[in-house]
Amino acid sequence: NYLLYHIHCIIHYSLLYCYFVILLFIISYSLYYFVLFILYIGEIMFIGIDDTDSRDKYCTTYIGTLLMEELEKKYKMDIPKLIRMNPMVKYKTRGNGGVSLMVLSKNDGAPLSYGDIKYIKEIVIKMVEKYSDFKCENTNPGIVFLSEENYNKNKEILDNYYKKVLNDIVDINYTKEILDNIGGEYIIYKKGLGIIGALGSIASNPPFTYELLAYRKKEKWGTKRTIDSNSVVEMDKKTIPYTYNNVDGNKQIIAPNTKCPVLYGIRGTKKETLLEAMNEVNSEEIDKYRIYLTNQGTDVHLRNFKIKDIYANTGVIVYGEVSSNPKNIKNIVLFEIKDNTGKIKCIAYEPTKSFRNIIRALKIGDLVAIYGTVRDSPFEINIEKIKIIKLAKQYIKDKKCECGGTLKSKGKGSGYKCNKCKKTIPYNDIKLIEIKRDIIEGFYEVPVSARRHLSKPL
Ligand code: ATP
Repeated sequence: NYLLYHIHCIIHYSLLYCYFVILLFIISYSLYYFVLFILYIGEIMFIGIDDTDSRDKYCTTYIGTLLMEELEKKYKMDIPKLIRMNPMVKYKTRGNGGVSLMVLSKNDGAPLSYGDIKYIKEIVIKMVEKYSDFKCENTNPGIVFLSEENYNKNKEILDNYYKKVLNDIVDINYTKEILDNIGGEYIIYKKGLGIIGALGSIASNPPFTYELLAYRKKEKWGTKRTIDSNSVVEMDKKTIPYTYNNVDGNKQIIAPNTKCPVLYGIRGTKKETLLEAMNEVNSEEIDKYRIYLTNQGTDVHLRNFKIKDIYANTGVIVYGEVSSNPKNIKNIVLFEIKDNTGKIKCIAYEPTKSFRNIIRALKIGDLVAIYGTVRDSPFEINIEKIKIIKLAKQYIKDKKCECGGTLKSKGKGSGYKCNKCKKTIPYNDIKLIEIKRDIIEGFYEVPVSARRHLSKPL
């Protein structure tokens, strides 16, 4: 009995112990998933930044590039975006570009935790505060954070917002309202206008191209850039058509003219070609470089319009007929087109150089498509490209008489009389000779140096 009692006790306690271990296992397992649920968000994080620089200092892409370097130490990052918005925004510094980054996961593939999100936000804020030119009146930085869930839930709102910042002038309150609706977080400095472009950059969608941005050593900032123009010309020859807008004639135009940290930017449609192109360019030492995804060179700022629907500060493509012969006014060339809804003036400015000769050669009756942006005052289209669809036939009167003499006018609308054989011809019966036009039908664009960032080269 004593032995049986002990065996019973051993079995009893062993079972109890097993139950306890299983219970402990279940509790810790649940706890583990509970902690995971609470601490790990498992979502991609979108970051948008804009309006940090001035013509004298810094560049928003530089902040983007520094952030990429810093965040890549711990996180998997998607390619950063440099998105150009409505080029008609008056208070832009240069090309109205906003930058956005996407944090995908930790480097080992684990999802982002609350701790990560907190860390990422802190580092973004630190970098923006360090590299923004707060002293410049026109610099009004803005940062936007958006979670993957809120991005996915609001895709349609974001698509429409992207179109809006490309086509219209947006008020900051409109952006704030959208951000509040979609659960976006924003930080504003001074007037905070940067949130408009910061969200625009996050909201952007294809078509995209690429730009490789090379940055200068800090000690060189503000000094003259050293870039061998010939090497850029050679690079252009080797990489075209996968790069574009590198040269204007024999002059390199990949370097900006402001004091910003950018040494040069090479634009193109293939990332690998951009890297090859960078290796071809002889220049001062590069501090760092980064390839951005961008909407440059895509014409996404242009939409088809009937003339009556055109409004100021937007990009248009208008099909019409030339309704006034081009006029030269100082260095600009001005003419008018009409369609079945109205008329509008079109203008080619001095920086468009020899492009103005194409415009000067237009005549009443030519059928054209005008690509450009609309100024408010004076209300006219600033031409970026012109498609000459059909040239109107041009004639002169054949004033040669069959006898070899010359037909002279008998007065306005009264016909002609030969000065030799005295034969008379009614006004409408005089023979017409078609004259050759100075231009041919086709697509023409302004020279590279006068091109907008968003303009798609022919
Ligand atoms: P950089 O190219 O060096 O970044 P920038 O030319 O982009 O300079 P910004 O200093 O960013 O010029 O100024 C442009 C301002 O216009 C930004 O505050 C941006 O948020 C805002 N913005 C962008 N798109 C629109 C729009 N459609 N309507 C109103 N404001 C806009």
